[in-house]
Amino acid sequence: MTLSYRLHMAGPQGHRQILLWTPSVASLQWEDGTDVDLRPVGQDYRATQQAGPAFPVSPAIPAGKSPAPRVLKIQLGLKCNYTCQYCNQAAQPQDSQGDPGDVASFLAGLPSWLKAAPQRIEFWGGEPFAYWKTLRPLAEALRERFPAASFGIVSNGSLLDEAKIDWLDRLGFGIGISHDGPAMKYRGPDPLDNPQQRDVLRMLYDRLKPQGRMSFNTVLHRRNMSLTAVRRHIAERLDVPAAELPLVTEEILLPYDDGGLRLSLRNERDGRAFMHEVFWEAVRGESMAVSTIRDKISGFFRLVATARPAASLGQKCGMDDPAKLAVDLKGNALTCQNMSADTRHRIGHVSAISEIRLNTAHHWSTREECGRCPVLPLCQEACLFLEQDLWRQACDNSYWHNLAIFAAALYWLTRLVLIEIEGPARRDGLPARMTVIDPAELEVAA
Ligand code: SF4
Ligand code: SF4
Repeated sequence: MTLSYRLHMAGPQGHRQILLWTPSVASLQWEDGTDVDLRPVGQDYRATQQAGPAFPVSPAIPAGKSPAPRVLKIQLGLKCNYTCQYCNQAAQPQDSQGDPGDVASFLAGLPSWLKAAPQRIEFWGGEPFAYWKTLRPLAEALRERFPAASFGIVSNGSLLDEAKIDWLDRLGFGIGISHDGPAMKYRGPDPLDNPQQRDVLRMLYDRLKPQGRMSFNTVLHRRNMSLTAVRRHIAERLDVPAAELPLVTEEILLPYDDGGLRLSLRNERDGRAFMHEVFWEAVRGESMAVSTIRDKISGFFRLVATARPAASLGQKCGMDDPAKLAVDLKGNALTCQNMSADTRHRIGHVSAISEIRLNTAHHWSTREECGRCPVLPLCQEACLFLEQDLWRQACDNSYWHNLAIFAAALYWLTRLVLIEIEGPARRDGLPARMTVIDPAELEVAA
């Protein structure tokens, strides 16, 4: 069944128009059946793309993994010197984490299962620099073997020093520093409030930012709704121009335990406050310099231009892709880099790569909500493996975030504001008509 939505759009002086939106085929038309003009956003309907159907992975039909992964994610262990309230790794057992002694056997085993050079290798913690004695020999050896691979790492930045920055630069790393701006207190001590750590981060900025190899990565949540506030907080402390700060967002937090639930959007009031902030920051252009927001909006335009079928969409993090493989140093294959091999998320071992079975994942088409969700093409499912209450809350958080981005994309395309969605609700019990941006806000904005 093809589900469509009537999008009630508003402009100045009471102007109203209806758009018809069919997420399953990314069709966006005016009420009279004419396509929306994509030229104002630099797209046209002649664009083509060939995306085959995504594999509808589920525990009943698990996916495999390729012995020639394009992206190899290496989990060093889940230990961290911070105690972020919403960390998806906090509740994971850490018994099997790697240690320096595992590096040699990991490297020696690689040729037996890795059949081609990965395009990208990521090094994950916990806090990866808490594993310095493991990380260093591992990355140096991998750089020698795979000189063309891009290297990525995400760190809280608190354990960096000048020698490590030299090392990151020399090995060609791109680094994301996790930082939540004024909401940093929900993660741990703010390294930017510590003069020594602040100076080290400024050194990192001066060294890698001009090469486009560093960013600050922020997670939004109930107590951290404004990317503008995050940008200002970091830029002021680093004493750099706010407009030049490379900021990305990992979007809204997904809850993995009670801490994550506490910082989630627990009711409609939270959701509306969040959506309001994200929408207006995008429409005012403030967050369009945040690459992940800009890319998502331009990705939406491309999706419409190419009429990309939802059936071709995999999960947003891509861990349902056989060419993305997460492993630990003992060779265990994992659902994703955030999960421990001491749980059900051990999905096999590289020594028997053809037997790896991603049997912990649910493609969006197997979720009750996603097939009747107007923002599916933007959200692409909150998380692969969450279930029950955590899944419902992850879906709710993602819905408010993606609804804001959807409304912002429609604004940039039509210069009209989405005030109401009419059509099937993603979950029983939710209304079939929903106010998005309150028309009263338009008058205030005007
Ligand atoms: S908002 Fe929820 S229902 Fe919609 S695509 Fe995301 S996870 Fe699925
Ligand atoms: S499956 Fe994807 S979305 Fe879920 S925790 Fe892992 S990386 Fe994040």
